[in-house]
Amino acid sequence: MKYQVDANGYYGKFGGAFIPEMLYPNVEELRMNYLSIIESPEFKKEFDYLLKNYVGRPTPLYFAKRLSEKHKAKIYLKREDLCHTGAHKINNTIGQILLAKRLGKQKIIAETGAGQHGVATATVCALMGMECIVYMGKLDMDRQRPNVERMRILGTKVIPATSGNMTLKDATNEAMRHWINHPTDTHYIIGSVVGPHPYPDMVAKFQSVISEEIKNQLIGEQGNPFPDYVIACVGGGSNAAGAYYHFLNDEHVNLVGVEAAGKGVDTNESAATTALGKIGILHGSKSLLMQTEDGQVIEPYSISAGLDYPGIGPLHSHLFDTGRVQFVSATDDEAMESGIALSRLEGIIPAIESAHAVAALAKLNLEQDDVVVVNLSGRGDKDLETYIRWGKY
Ligand SMILES: *Cc1c(COP(=O)(O)O)cnc(C)c1O
Repeated sequence: MKYQVDANGYYGKFGGAFIPEMLYPNVEELRMNYLSIIESPEFKKEFDYLLKNYVGRPTPLYFAKRLSEKHKAKIYLKREDLCHTGAHKINNTIGQILLAKRLGKQKIIAETGAGQHGVATATVCALMGMECIVYMGKLDMDRQRPNVERMRILGTKVIPATSGNMTLKDATNEAMRHWINHPTDTHYIIGSVVGPHPYPDMVAKFQSVISEEIKNQLIGEQGNPFPDYVIACVGGGSNAAGAYYHFLNDEHVNLVGVEAAGKGVDTNESAATTALGKIGILHGSKSLLMQTEDGQVIEPYSISAGLDYPGIGPLHSHLFDTGRVQFVSATDDEAMESGIALSRLEGIIPAIESAHAVAALAKLNLEQDDVVVVNLSGRGDKDLETYIRWGKY
């Protein structure tokens, strides 16, 4: 159980729960109850039902013939882009809202950067008839208008965070403050494998359905559950955690994480945490972070809003530290070119986050017989403006 969280909430030297004293009761309530709830048969039944009939799972594992010819390997795409709302994030928000109900909560809060997690949260709150508030940096609200309106249509109140840079970090601070002030009736849905313990473990478990399905689907495709490679992009790390989860102890399966290099890891405009980060504390856990000499968080940059996060979660920090996962990075241009290439080869326009994972195919020394699974975390509809602005197609 080398890669599982320990009893204190750590993955190796990363993780823990570094929270203000006033948040302690909320996080402790969650920690004491999450495993018994999510492992109960009654929870599993409702979770599985909704994943199947509401989200549309299992998502296909599609053999990408023309992409395979290009990269000279057997490449499969795990089609998380076909999930309801267009990405993997809904797997986690369904899990957390079912948990919140069982904890007796009536209200939900969340933070969002680009708005994808906000939309996934607003969606499940509408589904369950729960009141929802999403905090979003004011700058992000201006940049991501369609997602703001989606949340509003779904009945969610979107509150602008006007402190700091008015982006994700500031929205998270506001959400934490709200939670401190409303501890008994409110659950905070975090959108990735980040935050204080037990969030990273809980979110990884909800997303682990991805690798569970990959294993079953590969048995059907090739008679054995193991690929040679699993590739996923890493923002906070939730789609990657889900795609790796059931392969973590199978060391012969190469796991690859793809970070956003932005304009390049040597420019000051990047989000490649494993290349640039040092150990530090952000959003309640100890992990790798991009920070200045004196520990101030550096504002990350990527063309892809979902990878524009200054850290990676504690599980991924540990997987990097132990060498279990090979981390590579892809620049804005490499990702955009890969997104266009996938569109032309397979008729699938990927989210720009997912295009980073596709870009890694050219960076690995693949062999003809290698079975490679690329986790296609989301679809490109939300990124149309960015594709248009980039323009080279
Ligand atoms: C949010 C998002 C990501 C990044 O988040 P992770 O927690 O690293 O998975 C990746 N892809 C898509 C499509 C997203 O919406």
